[in-house]
Amino acid sequence: MKAIRLCSITNLLLLAALLLASGCVTPGAQPKPILQRYEFEQAQMGLPFRLILYAESHSKATRAAEAVWSRITDLNAILSDYEPDSELNRLSKTSGSGTWVPLGPDLARVLTTANSLSRDSDGAFDVTVGPEVTLWKRARRQRELPSPSAIDAARRSSGWTLVELREHSGRKEAMLVGSGMRLDLGAIAKGYALEEAALVLRQLGIQSFLLAGSGDMVLGDPPPGLPGWRVEAGVFDTPEAPTRQFLSLANTALATSGDSFQRAEIGGVRYSHIVDPRTGIGMTDHGLVTVIATSAMLADALSTAVSVLGPKDGTTLAARHGAEVWMLRKPGSAVEETRSAGFPAGQSPSPSQSR
Ligand code: ADP
Ligand code: MG
Repeated sequence: MKAIRLCSITNLLLLAALLLASGCVTPGAQPKPILQRYEFEQAQMGLPFRLILYAESHSKATRAAEAVWSRITDLNAILSDYEPDSELNRLSKTSGSGTWVPLGPDLARVLTTANSLSRDSDGAFDVTVGPEVTLWKRARRQRELPSPSAIDAARRSSGWTLVELREHSGRKEAMLVGSGMRLDLGAIAKGYALEEAALVLRQLGIQSFLLAGSGDMVLGDPPPGLPGWRVEAGVFDTPEAPTRQFLSLANTALATSGDSFQRAEIGGVRYSHIVDPRTGIGMTDHGLVTVIATSAMLADALSTAVSVLGPKDGTTLAARHGAEVWMLRKPGSAVEETRSAGFPAGQSPSPSQSR
């Protein structure tokens, strides 16, 4: 009896020592690494990007951040309409020539999604608005509206049905059948870049992260021990606006669209950088749309489409894609608010955080 007791005490002590050494309490389980918070910032796609992630070491965190910035830089070189030699601009230059152009996998994915969203939104989402956006940029510089004939000319070189896509020898190809076309992925490329960067992070074993590019973001697992990332939404730049909210989000994507930061003020009217393809000019209803969707590319594109479609058709479109919408608009003197049923309830800022 005595010998047996001694033996079990020795075993217990041994087990306790092993557990202590491994840092865990469940026999056989792997030790849980201690995750630390790391934060990185970089200008990407002409915008400030911010990455917060949890990793077990500084070197792992830095490697992940570098991989993220490198993937976004590469995507910008493909999808940007500012880079003269981007794959996108090279495609635009072929417009009207009757040639099928083979697409790289990234441009193919973005144009395919853009095309289906154009069809689904009845043309409200339209990446062929490049000529109208060029006019809008000039109008903003010169503080003068484009002439009706300039708008007509731009509209003749636009229209989502002028982008034809096909599968040829196992590759996606595009033909721009109008002349003078100029594709502009400003409403979808950032979302795609965020989505691809999230993939990079997960491949590198980073699960808990938040990556934001301007008002759009993609979120992984929440910070350790928390139910979600605390994300501010609904910052609408008008005194009558409802209070902004803090949402708790994880494993999802959020995008915002509106004229708060990008607008032209001409003759007392505010023209958004979001063009209504039906008129060829910037929206004037002063809005802020927040979309939550599982895909960052979809959230980005939907926020623009919903801005053009307005609350009723916009929320219907978003619902078809399983996305939630919070829309604030001030077409006249009053602010109108629309919230889809599944849009997460937020918290108002505490008094010390209020505006
Ligand atoms: P942000 O760039 O602030 O995230 P959006 O995602 O709404 O805002 O993108 C706006 C940009 O999308 C514009 O600057 C322009 O490049 C492009 N764009 C404008 N109107 C449309 C439209 N109707 N459909 C698709 N893209 C558009
Ligand atoms: Mg957007």
